[in-house]
Amino acid sequence: MSGRPAPADASSRGSSVDTPILIVGGGPVGLALAVELAWQGVACMLVEQGDGTVSNAKFVDINMRTMEFCRRWGVAEEVRDTGFDKHYPQDLIYVTSLTGHLLGRLKLPSFAELRTPPTVAERIARCPQTVFDPILRRVAATSPLVALAYRTRCERVEQDGDAVTAHLADLETGRERQVRARYLACCQGAASSLRESLGIGFEGCGTLSHSTNITFRSAALPGIHDKGPGFYTAFGPEGRWASMMALDGKSLWRLQLLAQLEGEAEAAIRRFVGRDFDFEVVTALSWQRRELVASRYRQGRVFLLGDAAHQLSPSGGFGLNTGIGDVTNLGWKLAAAVQGWGGEDLLDSYEIERLPVGKRTASRATDRFRTMHRDVEPGPAVLADGPEGEAARAALRSRVAAMIAHAHCGYEYGARYEDAGLQLGYFYEGSPVILPDGTPPPPDDPKHYLPTARPGSRAPHFWLDETRSVLDLFGHGFTLLRLGPQPPSAAGFAAAAQQLGVPLASHALPDAQLLALYNKPLVLVRPDGHVAWRGDAPPADCAAVLDCVRGVAGLR
Ligand SMILES: Cc1cc2nc3c(=O)[nH]c(=O)nc-3n(C[C@H](O)[C@H](O)[C@H](O)COP(=O)(O)OP(=O)(O)OC[C@H]3O[C@@H](n4cnc5c(N)ncnc54)[C@H](O)[C@@H]3O)c2cc1C
Repeated sequence: MSGRPAPADASSRGSSVDTPILIVGGGPVGLALAVELAWQGVACMLVEQGDGTVSNAKFVDINMRTMEFCRRWGVAEEVRDTGFDKHYPQDLIYVTSLTGHLLGRLKLPSFAELRTPPTVAERIARCPQTVFDPILRRVAATSPLVALAYRTRCERVEQDGDAVTAHLADLETGRERQVRARYLACCQGAASSLRESLGIGFEGCGTLSHSTNITFRSAALPGIHDKGPGFYTAFGPEGRWASMMALDGKSLWRLQLLAQLEGEAEAAIRRFVGRDFDFEVVTALSWQRRELVASRYRQGRVFLLGDAAHQLSPSGGFGLNTGIGDVTNLGWKLAAAVQGWGGEDLLDSYEIERLPVGKRTASRATDRFRTMHRDVEPGPAVLADGPEGEAARAALRSRVAAMIAHAHCGYEYGARYEDAGLQLGYFYEGSPVILPDGTPPPPDDPKHYLPTARPGSRAPHFWLDETRSVLDLFGHGFTLLRLGPQPPSAAGFAAAAQQLGVPLASHALPDAQLLALYNKPLVLVRPDGHVAWRGDAPPADCAAVLDCVRGVAGLR
């Protein structure tokens, strides 16, 4: 087995375990969990059957909320500065082929021109998976708390009262061994064998379509057509059939077919471009667009995260980002359990909080896919010369113009924040570890994000100075914000936290705007940046509030 042995976790309790937390799967979600656990000060071991090579960029864009966590992990700048040409324009360009007819264009700024919306600390970034995963891997590998084992497959697991036993196979030597962990995070992706072996099924629409991603290299491409740089969508007689984007803004491209590849990848590339030219296919990956959400996210000591828990249509780029939401929700809860200050309700709350988010996001991604594909079928005339062809293209151009008008509504601050409500506005209603304050939930609007510090919601971003966001205060343990010119005392909470062994930091922040944003002068924020409790004054029993939010005993 490659990699170093799992470090002992001094804080790990109970019967002998080899590692407090075993992560199965070293895709972006497994790697992000290793990074988050290390950031929380907890040891883990990650096993990945592959060798860590990422040759296919399934995702390319990192959304605002994930970027806020990249900021926490100290990699936001690196993720934003991937080598992608930031000046490469993001125009949406609709064509019959790159060397064929132009059907429409929506002019958009490059990533260099994007502005950060006032509601977030970090804007969207273009960072293909081929770059993103290695960044996370490097951070994980440099932590003394993380043991990475590549070419190692988890064959099966068993659970008892104290631990999970995983049977691991070293794919280089064929040697088998067992590892005992207090908890196991299943980050195995869509084809999760552990999920199946636990008898956890999927619910949802199932397969929506078959698709193919072809990555190819060509420095010649920009010089052989007149459409200029951008994100291209091609229409043929059958309607919209493929799209193409720049992966590095220079010579690496991704062609995405909306159907399964029939014939050679080369032929599809030539069809999109409309002529032969110099290129080299790097990879071709067939995949299924699905809407599926696991019926359970937890069974005993095993937790499902990422694509093992939910598979969404990539339209909207929610897949990875929903997985990172799972990571940041579960990471601190596992840390609290391992460090001895979190209760059983805290671990239960992972499924209660994240399963509805998985369902909501999956259904929205399907809606977006269906809207995108309510297209025309223009027929063969669209490619013809002469008046018949011109008439067919004129009809298609007016459909494309309507699409552009619709797409344009989603652009603010130079980028697509159409689904800001989905990315930032989800909240954990009915969670046993959130204390409601009696205010009604905000409208469930996937499109728009309305900042609110209502318990269960993401604590809103606010710039404390030019570079520091209030979000930068969150993460290690609970954070008590004391807001306004006369902030309430933190003494009650501080004494209770010390007595209970709950990590708690408090900050007095006098800014009146921040108080107005958070609505109450005392706000208790969880390590994942969601509000657990808020009030006008310290509660009569601070210990009872802390017990509730750490999942030891319900107050509700
Ligand atoms: C075409 C396409 C485009 C997409 N675009 C976007 C986008 O723009 N934005 C976005 O947010 N999301 C996007 N997604 C979704 C995103 O790619 C996935 O949600 C994300 O990769 C899931 O990560 P994961 O770590 O959960 O699973 P995976 O990436 O599938 O990783 C799982 C890992 O587990 C390993 N593994 C499996 N079984 C075992 C075992 N028994 N033992 C050890 N290791 C094991 C596998 O080898 C694999 O490395 C897209 C998806 C597709 C298909």
